Amino acid sequence: MARIAIIGGGASGLTASIYASKNHKVTIFERNNVCGKKITITGNGKCNYWNEDQELKHYHSHTPEALKSFFDTSIQKEVETFFNNLGIFPKIKNGYYYPYSMQATSIRNALVKKALSNNVKILYDFLVEEIEKENDIFIINPKKEHLVFDKVVLACGSMAAKKTGSDGIGYELAKSFGHKIVKPEPTLVQLVSNTTFLKDWHGVRCESVVSLHIEDKLFCQEKGEIQLTDYGVSGICIFNISRYVKENLHAKKKILLHINFLPEFQNSSSKELANWLDKRAENLKGYSLEEMLEGILPYKLLFVVLKEAHRKKEEHWLSLKEEEKINLIQKIKDFTIPIIDTLDFEHAQACSGGVSLQEIDMNTMESKQIKNLYILGELLDVDGDCGGYNLGFAWMSGIKCGKNL
Ligand SMILES: Cc1cc2nc3c(=O)[nH]c(=O)nc-3n(C[C@H](O)[C@H](O)[C@H](O)COP(=O)(O)OP(=O)(O)OC[C@H]3O[C@@H](n4cnc5c(N)ncnc54)[C@H](O)[C@@H]3O)c2cc1C
Repeated sequence: MARIAIIGGGASGLTASIYASKNHKVTIFERNNVCGKKITITGNGKCNYWNEDQELKHYHSHTPEALKSFFDTSIQKEVETFFNNLGIFPKIKNGYYYPYSMQATSIRNALVKKALSNNVKILYDFLVEEIEKENDIFIINPKKEHLVFDKVVLACGSMAAKKTGSDGIGYELAKSFGHKIVKPEPTLVQLVSNTTFLKDWHGVRCESVVSLHIEDKLFCQEKGEIQLTDYGVSGICIFNISRYVKENLHAKKKILLHINFLPEFQNSSSKELANWLDKRAENLKGYSLEEMLEGILPYKLLFVVLKEAHRKKEEHWLSLKEEEKINLIQKIKDFTIPIIDTLDFEHAQACSGGVSLQEIDMNTMESKQIKNLYILGELLDVDGDCGGYNLGFAWMSGIKCGKNL
């Protein structure tokens, strides 16, 4: 029976503790006075903990090839069994898993209850600042408490939402063992622009197709609801493309966001849309541009679009010249704003970057450099799309590690 220290009582640490405690003496070190603070704020307090679509494309890393060996159907099945055994009955919406209670605390409480019933010791309000390895043993906080263990699991999370306890100290602990850190950047985060009309469209929510262009080339595209704000844009589809922004801005690349406010017409040409609007205008004889477009675009957005197309709201569609029509259509189906930043780590749901996967055995989560040191969850250079993938990786890495321990 080995003495195992798990640094961090979040999603991945609690999971690893439940598996490892079947055979070992496990202690969790948690700096907060509760475990799983971050779990309780996930999914707007509902916790989208898993997704039935576990295609590799939903997970990202700077070493993507290392992820290939991580995923197999057995680990995915194991996650569902794990939650069944915790007593969590899923509510599945379009493949997105939530606890039936729709309360994230149910997940946190079930994990802590299981860990405690397996005799896992949880030391609350305990910040691990330093770990030393001497021969075959690890010493936690050698200059203070000086606690001795046979194996250590780093499950400290990333730098996203620091207020929940993950402030980046995990990177320092991993670095102290010689691990390489790929620079962490905020991801699943809002995008910032510097155009002049942001205050005018603030508060609008609408369906759209958003396309991220880097150096004028289409890089990625998402469809869904976006929120137009006084700093830029937000929403799940924005979050999913945000991971590419910081790195490219650091490389001084030009980033533009193209927004199609008529996603149903994504495949229609400007000419086809002009014909459609011609027919609409004939039907709505005498209507001004404002009146004609009111049934198509949210009011605040309509004025921004007209202003950017240099059109007056009193004008009439049928009296516009052909190129003026096309210009207005461009503003509706290809509205373009520069992206100059993301919001910070405090607003981010996750981090891209982290401990490089090159130095981790992805079947056991053990460090390839330091025997008996394990690294899990968001501390690693893995981030997932919105939709239960980040917690998904935390559970899966926790299970792999816990079983191996
Ligand atoms: C607002 C928000 C919403 C989210 N919604 C979702 C969602 O719906 N679905 C989804 O899949 N993902 C979601 N995520 C992401 C998900 O919560 C994280 O990816 C996941 O919690 C990471 O698990 P982890 O165990 O790696 O780290 P964490 O859950 O961050 O746990 C790390 C723990 O370690 C502790 N700790 C850190 N350093 C030390 C130390 N030195 N000593 C002692 N303790 C330490 C921290 O206090 C913390 O409790 C969301 C994130 C945020 C911020």
